[in-house]
This record gives sequence, structure tokens and C-alpha cells, in this order.
Amino acid sequence: MATTTSPPRVAIIGAGPAGLVLHLTLIKRGVPSILYEREASPNARIHLGGTLDLRWAYGQRALYENGLEAAFKAVSRPDGDETRMCGKDARVLLEIIADGDTRPEDISPEIDRPALRQIILDAVPADSVKWGHALTSVTPHGDGTHTLSFANGHTTTVDLLVGADGGASRIRPLVSPAQRLYAGLTGAEIVIERDVVDRADMADARALIGNGSTFAMEGGKVLAAQRNSDGRVLTYAWFRGPEDWPLPSDAAEARVSLLQKFEGWAPVLRKFIEHGADDGIYHRPLYMLQPGLRWEHVDGVTIIGDAAHVMTPFAGMGANVSMLDGLEMGLAIAEAVNAGASKEGREAAIKKAEEKLFEESAKWTGITAFNMEKMTGPDAPQSAVDAYKLGKGSL
Ligand SMILES: Cc1cc2nc3c(=O)[nH]c(=O)nc-3n(C[C@H](O)[C@H](O)[C@H](O)COP(=O)(O)OP(=O)(O)OC[C@H]3O[C@@H](n4cnc5c(N)ncnc54)[C@H](O)[C@@H]3O)c2cc1C
Repeated sequence: MATTTSPPRVAIIGAGPAGLVLHLTLIKRGVPSILYEREASPNARIHLGGTLDLRWAYGQRALYENGLEAAFKAVSRPDGDETRMCGKDARVLLEIIADGDTRPEDISPEIDRPALRQIILDAVPADSVKWGHALTSVTPHGDGTHTLSFANGHTTTVDLLVGADGGASRIRPLVSPAQRLYAGLTGAEIVIERDVVDRADMADARALIGNGSTFAMEGGKVLAAQRNSDGRVLTYAWFRGPEDWPLPSDAAEARVSLLQKFEGWAPVLRKFIEHGADDGIYHRPLYMLQPGLRWEHVDGVTIIGDAAHVMTPFAGMGANVSMLDGLEMGLAIAEAVNAGASKEGREAAIKKAEEKLFEESAKWTGITAFNMEKMTGPDAPQSAVDAYKLGKGSL
């Protein structure tokens, strides 16, 4: 039982935005921590996932408080914050482009997921991140310690276990019976390669996205297309349907199937589906946890990020809140450990950080649910534009 003031053995599961920021925050403050990730290497899924716009008081703060302001500025794109909204006719109803008068706090630069991961990895010891470690089971010992088993045969016992392992978390059941729910929207992520994006016949599509993103919505369907820093365009095509809606595995058939869902949409919008790469179309049903999830503190274990509050992407805040969770949890643990707190003192600090997390996640899961309704409801796109102008929406 860890009742001394020696540093706790800390394990974080998951090298997504939440786990990476927590690990960084602890390491920067001299608290040893080991980050376990199931992916084989930092580059294992480098082609997947779009860009994230990091908010000043969330993702940006999490990096700046850990000394990564210059690193972030070197790889992020303030002009990627450019956003447009339209209906299925592609007529732009709202255009948000920062100008010289925009305060830095109001700009949310875009960063590609692999670049975000890399600037954090560059700031922590390489041997503190264990790749190829898929957690398979956790055995609680009743005194706050847990033994972790991984698919590669590795086992370890820790004083503090943090689940940053995403929406389908294996750690969440240790603190809450809550289950991830299907949000009712299914669809696909579609990658358009740079050489296709740059073609002359794509000029209208390029103009609609600019350097940032376009959200087209109507009739319960959404097409969200965004520029990545490597010039590719990633599109998400969502519509109401069953969770197991079958996306054909053959790319040509997948494009036809998706185009049928967006029948009658403007030709420029349909291009975001028509030009999807043969190896770049992925099934992407959307999930959420019940908004405002809370749990009673359990000694020796907690969860952060999507594990605690997975939400649909309609406020663009999931990674931002996850990074703030990582920062706040890391600051709380480091302060307790560095003050020589007892196990009880450390657990009290974690409990306090969980209270902050509950507050933030209740706020953003609520706004996200509101936005989803406005973007997929009967009055979209106007309802979404109105919500944004009223300051409720946050894309
Ligand atoms: C289409 C889409 C667009 C989005 N756009 C935005 C946006 O613009 N802005 C924004 O703020 N948010 C956005 N989000 C939300 C954002 O992606 C998530 O909120 C964020 O990635 C959560 O970070 P996380 O670290 O908690 O979890 P994740 O990013 O899911 O990371 C979890 C990590 O844990 C690892 N893992 C899982 N299980 C195990 C295991 N058993 N053992 C070891 N490792 C494991 C995974 O491999 C993964 O690396 C979007 C989400 C979607 C679906």
C-alpha cells in the first residue's frame, strides 16, 4: 500500500490528446509517469484523422503551460480557422475569417493530429511512452493499486491509473457503469488526396473550403470538409441511419452509396464524395456518453478525455476539453506529489480535478447536443447559423 510520500507509480493508458497532455504535464513537473499506447508506433495511423482547431483557453493553454507555445506556432495554421456554413445548395450563409482586428484569444489555429502528437512526444523522454501496449485487463487490489495486463504479455502494478483510452474506454467501468451511446448519425470519413484537390476542376471546391472548413447541412444530413496542412481535404458525410449502416468495402461502391444519400445536393458538394481516394473511405458512426456524466471518486483510478465525455464533433471541442482535462489533472497530481502529500492528500487532489472536469464536460456536452440538433434538425442550415450568431454554437 502506498502510504509514503515517495512518488506514486503512474500509468496513463492512451496517447491521444488527453493522455499526451497529462503525461507531458507530469513529466515537466518532475513526476515520473509511463504512457501506454496500443498503436505500434507514433506513425501507425498517421494518415487518419483530420485537423483540430485548438482554443485559447483549452488546447492552446494546455500546450503553452507546458512550454510548447513556439512548437505549436511552428506547426499550426491560424488561417485554418476559416469557416463557412451552407445548405445543400452550397450558398454560403455564414463566413468566419479572422482579420487584423481579431484578438489572438479568438483565433483557434488548426493543427493536424500527428503534428500535435509529435510536438508532445518531442518534449518527453522517448522511453516513457510504451508503444504496442494494448491494455487487455485491470485487476484492482482494493487498496488503490491496480495490476495492468497488456496483449503483448507485459504486466505492471501501479498506484495511480488514468484512463485516457477514448470513447470505448476499458478503464471507465472501474469508475462508472456508463456506456457509450450511438448518436443516431452514421456515415464516412473521405480523404481527397492533394493532387486531386489541386486539379483545375476542383477550383469551386477549393474556394468553398478556403484554408479552413465548410459545413453543409440540410434534411438531417451533414457534409463537413476541411483542409489539412498537407493539402489533403478530409470530408465527413453523416446522415441518420442505423449504427451498422453498411459502407461497402469496395471504394467505387462506397462512393455510389454515399452519393445516393446526398442526392440533390449541389455538384460542388458532391465532389467531396466523388473524389474520395480508393484507400481513403472509412466508416464513421458517431458516439456520445450521456451529457454531464459524473462518478464517485475511486481511489487509485480516474478517467479523462473522451473516456469521460465522448461527444459528437458538432462543437469541435472534444480534443480541446480532453487537453484541458490532461492539464488540470496533471497540475493537481503534480502539486500534490511535489508537496509530499500522503496518498489521501493525492486522492483528494484528484477528486477536486474530477469536479472541474465534470463542470467543463457538462458545459460542452450540452452545447454539442444543442449544436447537433440545430445542424441536423428540420430548420438547418438556418438554425445552425442563428445558433452560431447567438454565440451558442462553437465550431
Ligand atoms: C470526426 C471527428 C472530428 C473531430 N473534430 C474535432 C475538432 O475539430 N476539435 C476538437 O476539439 N475535437 C474534435 N473531435 C473530437 C476529438 O477527436 C476527441 O475528443 C479527442 O481525440 C479525444 O482525445 P482522447 O485523448 O480522450 O481520446 P483519443 O483521441 O480517442 O485517444 C485515445 C488513445 O487511446 C488508445 N487506446 C485505446 N484503447 C487502448 C488500450 N486498450 N490500450 C492502449 N491504448 C489504447 C488509442 O489508440 C488512442 O491513441 C472530433 C472527433 C471526430 C469523431
